[in-house]
This record gives sequence, C-alpha cells and structure tokens, in this order.
Amino acid sequence: MSYRSASEHYKEIFGEKVYRIALDAGCTCPNRDGTKGTGGCIFCSGSGSGEFAADGRLSITEQMAFAKKKVEKKCKSHKYIAYFQNFTNTYGDEEKLKKKYEEAISDPEVVGISIATRPDCISEKMYAILEELSQKTYVWIELGLQTIHEKTAEWFRRGYPLSDFETTVHRLAAIKGRLEIIVHVILDFPVETKDMMLDTIRYCSHLPIQGIKIANLNVLSGTALAVLFEKEAFALMELNEYIDLLCEAVELIRPDIVIYRMTGDGDKRHLIAPLWVADKRNVRNRIASEFSARKIEQGRKYRPC
Ligand code: SF4
Repeated sequence: MSYRSASEHYKEIFGEKVYRIALDAGCTCPNRDGTKGTGGCIFCSGSGSGEFAADGRLSITEQMAFAKKKVEKKCKSHKYIAYFQNFTNTYGDEEKLKKKYEEAISDPEVVGISIATRPDCISEKMYAILEELSQKTYVWIELGLQTIHEKTAEWFRRGYPLSDFETTVHRLAAIKGRLEIIVHVILDFPVETKDMMLDTIRYCSHLPIQGIKIANLNVLSGTALAVLFEKEAFALMELNEYIDLLCEAVELIRPDIVIYRMTGDGDKRHLIAPLWVADKRNVRNRIASEFSARKIEQGRKYRPC
C-alpha cells in the first residue's frame, strides 16, 4: 500500500518544495482565558503548542522576514505557507485577524495560509472571512481533535464535545474555495486502548477532510501533564510500539488524505517523555525501515474524494 505525503501534495499544487513559516497572531485560547477553562489542555505548553513560532510582538511582515532568513540559511526557497500556529487563531476580533491573514498573503512568496484553531471557535463572520480568503489563496484549517472519545477529551480537558468538531468539519467542507481541512490526532493517550486510538483514525477517514497530523503524546515540562506524569508515572509507548500502531493507522487512512505528520514535535528543551522523540533522525529512519518492511510506500497519487 502507499500513503500520501505533504511534500508530494505541495509539489503537485505548487510544482516545488514549499516551507511553512510559523507565525504568532497574538491570539489566546478559550480553554485558557476562562471562557471554557483556565488551565488549557493538559499537554499544552505555555506557548499554546506553537514552540517554533516567531516573536508575537513583531508585525506579521517582520515575523515572516525573520522566519524566512532562518529557512534560507538551510536552503533556497521562494514559496512559503504562512502558518498561524500557536493558540487559537480564529479566536478574537475577526477584523483584526483578517488583517493579519491578509498581511501574510500579500507577500508574493506566500502561496497559502495555514490556520490552527479549535472547532468551537469559528464564528459566522469568521466562516465568511475564510471563504473570502480561500478564493484568493490556498487555505488549510487545522483542527485539534486529538480523539473521538469524550472520556479522553475530559481527561485532557479539551473543553468541547465531538459534535462541535463534526459540525465544524461539515461547515468548512461546504466552503467554496481552495480550503482544506487538517485534523490533529494523538495516538497514545494512556487512558485509551489501541482499538480506541484506531477508532479515531477510522472516524476521521469517513469525514470530508483532506489532511491528518498524527502525534504521540509528549510530556513537556511546565504542563499539567508533566505534574500528572510525575504523580502517576503512567506508561507511554516505546518507539517500536508506537511505530507498530502508526503502521496500522496509516493503513486505515483514506487514500486521498494527506499525512502531514507522524510523531509529536514538541520543543526538545522541555521534553520529559518519551525521550525517543528527541532523536528525530532515528525516529524517521525507524519509521522508514518499518514502512519498507511492510511495503507501505510514499507516492499515492491524488484522488479527490
Ligand atoms: S486548544 Fe490548543 S491552545 Fe488551547 S489549551 Fe488546548 S492545545 Fe492549548
């Protein structure tokens, strides 16, 4: 079998390699500001799961210039996706956010925009802004689902029910424009069985989404999860167990869905567990070798659903 990777997807759309530059729109999150909760999801770092975003005190143009310089040190690139990554990037004054999105796409080297958010934070006005945006450029909306199981969602304090997610996916899918939906899923919650984790993947495969980001659960210092981990010392998967599960998950994913990520990507400086995540090259190599042993190949051609 084969799977569809982000680099292939970008190459098909843009004809070359495209880099995502992480930006900070200055948003907060309803799960932190008291609207839904104050502590946030238990695994969320103080930066709102956006450790690699540029300094939010700078304008979007300044952040992009800074981020581009970093990319250019490694490679020559002329196409970028502006990635509004940390906290909830559709939450706040819609007009101000619209200006930030437009500032990002006004850069001639920016070929698309990716907006990470929660499904319970897209207002009617925001749906209209996203539709307008998707008629000007490529738009990816990233929704943090993590699991379909309400008990797990309570455990990590997600703060919205699955029904909110489902409604939002269908609303976004009805937008007329170049808009794709990416869903974030976590595979190794210690309160779930393997079957429960794979049920989340099966469920996602039946939705009108175009992308998925899969991660293992990272315990980062300074989070509520770190406190719980210290207290309960729950087990997290070893690398070989995780890769085994990942292979099963990939085999369940609908052929047209792009897999954007396969492991967690937290800041190494704050990583408490599992420590195997820190050696990215080893993780990449081990995944590649297991995929090759199971004949799971990159290169699935685009077949719109
Ligand atoms: S919804 Fe996102 S930003 Fe908000 S607390 Fe959870 S992980 Fe953090």
